[in-house]
Amino acid sequence: MANSIIDPSRLEKIEFSNDEIARYSRHLIMPEVTLEGQKRIKAASILCIGAGGLGSPIALYLAAAGVGRLGLVDGDVVDFSNLQRQILHGTKDVGRKKLNSARDRIREVNPNVQVELFDAFFTSENAREIVENYDIVIDGTDNFPTRYLSNDVCVLLKKPNIYGSIFRFDGQCTVFAPHLGGPCYRCMFPEPPPPGMVPSCAEGGVLGVLPGIIGVMQAIEAIKLIVGIGDSLMGRLVSFDALKMKFREFKLRKDPSCPICGEHPTITDLIDYEQFCGIPQAAAAEAAESPVPEISVTELKRKLDAKDKFVLVDVREQFEWDIARIPGATLIPLGELPSRMSELDSTDEIVLQCKTGARSAKALRMLQEAGFGKLTNVTGGIAAWAEEIDPSVPKY
Ligand SMILES: [Zn+2]
Repeated sequence: MANSIIDPSRLEKIEFSNDEIARYSRHLIMPEVTLEGQKRIKAASILCIGAGGLGSPIALYLAAAGVGRLGLVDGDVVDFSNLQRQILHGTKDVGRKKLNSARDRIREVNPNVQVELFDAFFTSENAREIVENYDIVIDGTDNFPTRYLSNDVCVLLKKPNIYGSIFRFDGQCTVFAPHLGGPCYRCMFPEPPPPGMVPSCAEGGVLGVLPGIIGVMQAIEAIKLIVGIGDSLMGRLVSFDALKMKFREFKLRKDPSCPICGEHPTITDLIDYEQFCGIPQAAAAEAAESPVPEISVTELKRKLDAKDKFVLVDVREQFEWDIARIPGATLIPLGELPSRMSELDSTDEIVLQCKTGARSAKALRMLQEAGFGKLTNVTGGIAAWAEEIDPSVPKY
């Protein structure tokens, strides 16, 4: 049996009301948990970074399990596109701060839990201060900047960091805790990938039920560390394939030359990675390459209203076009552009547009190379159009 990460001295003051005894009875009657284990759970504090897809099951189950103090970090607002998987939030919460709807929902589940809200994005500025007061950190954000930041701050402050990631039909979970003998994230991936190399859920999609599985696995690992039972996922990564309904396990080893938890660490303080996630990530990479001429959605609207002579080309996929489109656009999916360039006239002014501006920037470069001269890219794509010009256009 593993050791609990909760110091026994912290259990002395922990008491339960009769209601709490009834509430937790299914734990109390398990010999692996008992009143002692439940006291550990109540004494424990867990920080969940992100109140989204993974954060939802994590926070809901940990609250129900009776964790004493639950911290949530999130700077976002509930959007319709979140509801397919972020079960902390309901339809009526769209437009509200995620933290507020999360707090209300958690209170409903278990009013005994002390909920602490950090209305911010997790950055190198606030990471230390926030993490310091918790026993365990669970990364529920699933983006690279936060993944490296939460790893680094947890290594430096000696806190277990429970990792989860989801993409399309696949998910992964493990526990990083070099101070307990396991590896950290940088033992596997010393440096972040270049921006734009990694697709995000906003780009590739995610099966709505999947974060339910991975988030719950993260919550289970937290409870195991607290109660001090079972075999931790430390040093093992579980990978789940929803389509095949298969779990696989990989060994993870601590790297003695790891830049942060190794024998001669080169990283001794927190570094910020830009908040690059989703398509803006790809856009950032493209922009870094060389800027393309841009046009705002406001300017595009003005040109359309003024009936300026130009061709608006939408380079998204047919299925995206079927969801939403900008009036007057012509669809040529990026992959078909090389073979369909002849449909365009290089003397025309061509305005390119996609979902958020990354693919159309790529298209612009392809056309540039083919000798087209009068090209502009719509900043923010149809997402910005829906946001700023026409709210009746569905966001996806
Ligand atoms: Zn390491």
